[in-house]
Amino acid sequence: MEARSSYLLKLEEQLLEQQQSLADLIVSEMGKVKKEALAEIKKCAWVCRYYAENGAGFLAREPIASDASESFVSFQPLGTVLAVMPWNFPFWQVFRFLAPALMAGNTAVLKHASNVPGCSLAIEKLVQDAGLPNNVFRSLLIGGKSVKQVIENPKVKAVTLTGSTPAGKSVAAAAGSVLKKSVLELGGSDPYLILEDANIEEAADLCATSRLLNAGQSCIGAKRFIVVEQVYEQFRDAFVQKMQAAQYGDPHDEKTAIGPLARIDLRNELHGQVSASVAKGAKILCGGYIPEHEAAFYPPTVLENIEAGMPAYDEELFGPVASLFKVKTEADGIRIANDTIFGLGAGVFTSDLERGKRLAEKGLDAGCVFVNDFVKSDPRLPFGGIKESGFGRELSVFGIREFVNIKTVAVK
Ligand code: NDP
Repeated sequence: MEARSSYLLKLEEQLLEQQQSLADLIVSEMGKVKKEALAEIKKCAWVCRYYAENGAGFLAREPIASDASESFVSFQPLGTVLAVMPWNFPFWQVFRFLAPALMAGNTAVLKHASNVPGCSLAIEKLVQDAGLPNNVFRSLLIGGKSVKQVIENPKVKAVTLTGSTPAGKSVAAAAGSVLKKSVLELGGSDPYLILEDANIEEAADLCATSRLLNAGQSCIGAKRFIVVEQVYEQFRDAFVQKMQAAQYGDPHDEKTAIGPLARIDLRNELHGQVSASVAKGAKILCGGYIPEHEAAFYPPTVLENIEAGMPAYDEELFGPVASLFKVKTEADGIRIANDTIFGLGAGVFTSDLERGKRLAEKGLDAGCVFVNDFVKSDPRLPFGGIKESGFGRELSVFGIREFVNIKTVAVK
């Protein structure tokens, strides 16, 4: 355990030392703004330190009283875990899996998204340079079609995927066919409920910030804003103003709020979802067009008058597009919030904290609910979803125990 911990601290040190060049690599491969790329690298350093300091405690033997003279639970590594990862947080998505996996004594192979090969190889080099034994972690530059074959390889004991729901279903099916454990962190259409007693200015600010993070390409970005009618206009006006104020442009420029989307096809798909929603009656309050530019820019966009049957109601919108809903009551709001195939994150804004906690705990169907804030991943808190947002948890004590043999030892 001590050796694993010191490798993770070495990884932390390297990430911090190389943060500028690693952040530049992220910007050049997938287009997020530099300050967000730097924050991503620092968060990877944090998760390494977190598991270096806490991993041994999370995996310590747990005595349990039984009929045996002695019985306890021991957490043993599984072996090699395959990680299939996306491009949206090309370092963070990998490190939040890798740090606990290495601390638990597993080895790993990474199949990263095809548009971030440089990040994939840079992570492999960081691990090698941290002095970990050869082949504890390797990057495979392969396409999605080859993943099934890797899962079926007897040396691979389990698989984790972060990405779209169709990719998750395909990986879960392949893992199921050979009875291997899988953890899936998939899409989300996170609802935020804004109640009449909320601080509306603050709610609009936090909701716009969350919607625009990473140019809206985040599974836990706030996506649907469900506002009770007494405060709908007030929220809508403040929110649209904040969305419109965010300028898109060169991700290296410090003044830029949002960079281009990661790929032209993803931008076109997003615009297709907006256009199809408008064709069915949704109204554009701002944005909603493809700018004349060779890069995959998409302006901050706000839609209202959204109904079931429109992509803005039924699907994940993976970009800077917000959907507004006006509801009469809290109960209507909860119904619309939960009327989705997804269940990743959710938010509720209210000045009554007891009401907020009640709705968070018992009202909103999601893996994580934040009251008066937007959902953020944090090494100390479990992270993951329900329904078609996936299963299993990452981070915290729960994350490190996903890829271990929870072994019972009993002595007569
Ligand atoms: P994908 O889910 O297709 O890609 C994510 C990862 O899965 C990549 O490494 C990809 O490889 C791999 N992959 C794709 N299909 C399969 C498969 N059938 N079997 C095994 N691995 C597979 O995301 P996209 O980049 O195409 O983005 C599409 C949509 O997915 C987005 O618009 C968004 O809705 C969602 N998404 C969600 C993310 C999240 O954080 N939850 C992150 C990224 C996307 P390769 O790149 O080689 O195809």
